[in-house]
Amino acid sequence: MSDKNKGLNKAREIYLDSSRRAKELKAADKKIIGYPCVYVPVEMLTALDLVPYRTCADMKEPVTEADRALPHSFCPVMRNCLDCALKGKNDFLDGMVAIHSCDPQEKTARIWESYTHYPYFHFIDMPITVRPEALEYFKGQLNDFRKTLEAFTGKKLSADKLEAAIKSHNQQRALVRELYELTKSSPPHVSGTEIVQVVKALTSLPVAEGNNLLTETIGEVKKRAARPEKKSARLLIWSSTLDDTDIMQVFEAKANVVMNESCGGVRAYRGEVKLTADRLEGLADYYLNEITCARTFRQAALGETRKDYGRDLQSRFGYLKGAIKDWKINGVVMLLVRYCDPFAFEIPSLKDYLNSIGVPSTYIEYDYTTGALAPMRTRVEAFIETISQ
Ligand code: SF4
Repeated sequence: MSDKNKGLNKAREIYLDSSRRAKELKAADKKIIGYPCVYVPVEMLTALDLVPYRTCADMKEPVTEADRALPHSFCPVMRNCLDCALKGKNDFLDGMVAIHSCDPQEKTARIWESYTHYPYFHFIDMPITVRPEALEYFKGQLNDFRKTLEAFTGKKLSADKLEAAIKSHNQQRALVRELYELTKSSPPHVSGTEIVQVVKALTSLPVAEGNNLLTETIGEVKKRAARPEKKSARLLIWSSTLDDTDIMQVFEAKANVVMNESCGGVRAYRGEVKLTADRLEGLADYYLNEITCARTFRQAALGETRKDYGRDLQSRFGYLKGAIKDWKINGVVMLLVRYCDPFAFEIPSLKDYLNSIGVPSTYIEYDYTTGALAPMRTRVEAFIETISQ
């Protein structure tokens, strides 16, 4: 295989045409299961030889069909995802798994199920607290998911197969973290734009192919002489999702984005699933407790009646402090998709937390359209000027 079809080039190709590999696999009799959010436990699909395929929004696609089913003042990412489905872009899927990661996703899933006709559709109800009862409930939901998958495939989800799948996905998480180690240097060895392409490629490939892609990419990046240009700002972007290179390039025109804290970046790869005796318990624990998304309500101490604000902020955002220090980040952008309530409600507290650790930050809201990029550029440039003085 020539270097043209490996590593970063291959990731870029898959990023630009993310359904191509899934369609090839389908032609070879594999079953492809879509999922719209990183909270779906893809290990359970992999263990049953199903191919998980993330159904992402496409910012360049004007929303026309979703207006039939969703109001305009609604999460534009979900409107766009549904729009793509209604236009038949996901018709190659054999099934779909949605999850209650937020209310817009739950509402969209109901509509998605009734307007499309995949052979399999399953909705996982996910609690929003990290209390022990919530974990128990979520484990029950994963058990229900197991039953419908077994009925659909006609196969048993054995503990051995699940263990092997968990190990492969944990390996993928470790490789993504290794890739992020390469943004610690100044200039970084790999750009935020390139990482967006790699991460999006991973979510449209079987896990073993994704792990090969990561291994190739890490080897290539470590060896290459030309690094991204060094910029005066080293940014962390905190967002629900940042999975489009056009958005990333708005930031990287003036800064090095060394940490993409969203589901298009490091968020789904920071932790690992523990191999507990009951495999579903390890999965439930990882997805409920370890993924650091605003959709989950974290209490500093269970049962407390008066909040200690500082402790509360630490339990919600403490994970960012180490990254800010280790990656020498000198600015944080809180990038909000309009009508995204889970993330919008976190912004005042996150701002307080970042102030408390002395990191400058700014807040930018946009509507997930290409028309929003020009005003976004002006805001980004103004912020970078203030932190580069
Ligand atoms: S978390 Fe926010 S951006 Fe993501 S689907 Fe929910 S409302 Fe939309």
